Amino acid sequence: MNTNLKVNVLPDTEGFFGNYGGQFLDEDLKKEFKKIAEEFLKIKDDKDFNDELNYLLKHYVGRPSPIYFAKNLSEKYGAEIYLKREDLNHTGAHKINHSLGEALLAKKMGKEKIIAETGAGQHGVATATAAALMGLKCDIYMGEVDIEKEKPNVDKMRLLGANVVCVKSGKRTLKEAVDEAFCAYLKEYKTAIYAIGSVVGPHPFPMIVEHFQSVIGREAREQFLDLTDTLPDCVMACVGGGSNAIGIFRGFLDDEDVKLFGVEPLGKGEKIGENAASITYGKDGVIHGFKCKLLQDDNGNVANAYSIASGLDYPGVGPKHCYLNQIGRANYVCVTDKEALDAFFELSRVEGIIPALESSHAIAYAIKYAKENKGKKILVNLSGRGDKDVDFVLNNANL
Ligand SMILES: *Cc1c(COP(=O)(O)O)cnc(C)c1O
Repeated sequence: MNTNLKVNVLPDTEGFFGNYGGQFLDEDLKKEFKKIAEEFLKIKDDKDFNDELNYLLKHYVGRPSPIYFAKNLSEKYGAEIYLKREDLNHTGAHKINHSLGEALLAKKMGKEKIIAETGAGQHGVATATAAALMGLKCDIYMGEVDIEKEKPNVDKMRLLGANVVCVKSGKRTLKEAVDEAFCAYLKEYKTAIYAIGSVVGPHPFPMIVEHFQSVIGREAREQFLDLTDTLPDCVMACVGGGSNAIGIFRGFLDDEDVKLFGVEPLGKGEKIGENAASITYGKDGVIHGFKCKLLQDDNGNVANAYSIASGLDYPGVGPKHCYLNQIGRANYVCVTDKEALDAFFELSRVEGIIPALESSHAIAYAIKYAKENKGKKILVNLSGRGDKDVDFVLNNANL
């Protein structure tokens, strides 16, 4: 690794981080996204905007989320394991951090409506929550298959006042939901804003979502120093699109001695179609308006992504992660469904904390790493709580 490394925080003017990112879009949308980028860059350092956002993060979300020393888990596996408790946030995960930011940005830009897509419904619920709070209309695009599968989240979105739009094209899941949400946005961009669910999509969305999630890393670095007088040896987080991971990494990018691990879902195995490990098994490609490591079949078509954790099964991944991988600043590793499920039970039983299946991937890697690196200080981002997964896990525990 280059020891004088200073990682670029912002993308270049075209929206690229190294070779990745950019804007692969129609001219109309490019123009509108340029406006959003300009507005965001102005507003992100505006005192009134930040006062309002910080007030909400503290009193509405419950930040700062604590860091918890997982003593039992640490004693059992021989390293010091610390958890950044994003699971304690209002709505149960880190997604509220950027949903609130995006909704506040929409309001400041004079927009009346938020348009978003959702797969499992987590981003939909966080967006609907933020829209309710800000008094904005909210259209959530969701595949028909997902609507049937994720009824509790659909009910929550409707209860929060969102309009859930049923997408019936193609496979009727997340990819088609994004396609249709983009189309709708193209028609309504004068009065609406698009709110993406992770550090993916065309510029400026990866930059915007990363900015709003960077609060995790900022808090975590300070809290870790307070608690231990040192920095962690390594920081770990699961990677779907990569927002919770980049959020915590941001606190440590310039601390060269702190190793960063992004944990990708290996699903059922290495074969394309059986996992969602985009950095590990993907090739450079373009999806939803940006360039990234993309899971593709032999003909170069976008492959199906799969993980037991529905929040992780996206065939692409955030451009910043592709860049951090390219320059060697972060390491990307894999955890299977089975290992994640074991970690789900383990953290529940040993610490009394039921993690989201997504976050269980990071816990699984921490346990693995602890066994081989005794005495190290490991900081894990516990991105969300597992309430949403309990029924599924108990019905499928012998997977
Ligand atoms: C959505 C979700 C993820 C995956 O999204 P990232 O953008 O990769 O963070 C991870 N954990 C939880 C709890 C989620 O809801």
